[in-house]
Amino acid sequence: MSQRDQQGKVILSVRNLAVEYRTSSGPVKAAQEVSFDLRAGEALALIGESGSGKSTLGLAILRLLPKTAQIPAGTITYFARDGREVNVLGLRPEELRRFRWEECAMVFQSALNALNPVLRVWDQMLDTVRAHRGRVNTNELRTRAGELLRMVQLDPERVLPSYPHELSGGMRQRVAIAMSLLLDPQLIILDEPTTALDILTQRTIIDVMLNLRDQLGFAMIFISHDLSIAAELADRVATMYAGEVVELGQVHDIFYQPKHPYTVGLLNAVPPIAGDLVALRSIPGSPPSLLNPPSGCKFHPRCPYATEECSSTEPELIPVGHEHTAACIHSDQVHFERTVLEAAP
Ligand code: ATP
Ligand code: MG
Repeated sequence: MSQRDQQGKVILSVRNLAVEYRTSSGPVKAAQEVSFDLRAGEALALIGESGSGKSTLGLAILRLLPKTAQIPAGTITYFARDGREVNVLGLRPEELRRFRWEECAMVFQSALNALNPVLRVWDQMLDTVRAHRGRVNTNELRTRAGELLRMVQLDPERVLPSYPHELSGGMRQRVAIAMSLLLDPQLIILDEPTTALDILTQRTIIDVMLNLRDQLGFAMIFISHDLSIAAELADRVATMYAGEVVELGQVHDIFYQPKHPYTVGLLNAVPPIAGDLVALRSIPGSPPSLLNPPSGCKFHPRCPYATEECSSTEPELIPVGHEHTAACIHSDQVHFERTVLEAAP
């Protein structure tokens, strides 16, 4: 079945996932009670302040967490194209190696770290495919590499013989994206792939991602601080706060009718993508320590809607609309309206 025929089928199911980092001051609870499903071909954006656990979640799905991390609770189930159900947390090393490129690939913020500095791009591609498929038909690989590089708007003749340092940051990032797709994974996880780049190069990467998704139909989890990028690329958005998913919904609902006060805070802190000049407001206070998080709702010390109950009751994600959930007991009062300073001409 092609990726497009499988649209709508769940390919990843995360349930009650918790991740802790061991530190000299005690366990840092970087993810807690995280649950979500991802469907074939779907793009989910993870948004939230620095330290909210976005990368931790991405790394956990690929079992790339450092040794100091442990997963005290939860499951990650992946459904392969052939219907195989994979318990990701139970994969043995050899199975994990296959899972990582052939089923699920990751692109990091700095492509320089992902590319081997002493290998030409072509040799890296050859090595990657050889490690997974054994013998490689170099003609076929050359064709596939050429196609992928052209899809990311690079000239294969120029790029394949180059070493990473001979390419610009934006070119390297696009090489990393093309490499992640070499073995045709069903899911790619991109962790801030545009953050280190200038605004025009960011634009190119976004266009490239939109175009690639359209042509290849993979699912993606897109981690970003930048709400406008999330709005453009995602079908659904998950807002993370202090290691928890506090709101999850379709992109339009999250941006126009957010139901968690923290999502409202994030939206008020950035200018709208188009239209009027509006007042920007930062969220008072700072994210809590994950060594010793606040009781009840972790956002309550910063929340304008907080009541007594919020400091004692941990809110669960509850339905607040169609395919829209929020972890707030006051979600029915939450209202998002920007203060317009100057109307757009
Ligand atoms: P950013 O937007 O800055 O990339 P993030 O949302 O990706 O942030 P994570 O990197 O997942 O956040 O971090 C979540 C929490 O876990 C933070 O409090 C962070 O300090 C902590 N953390 C991350 N990596 C480690 C580690 N190796 N050891 C201890 N604590 C860690
Ligand atoms: Mg991160």
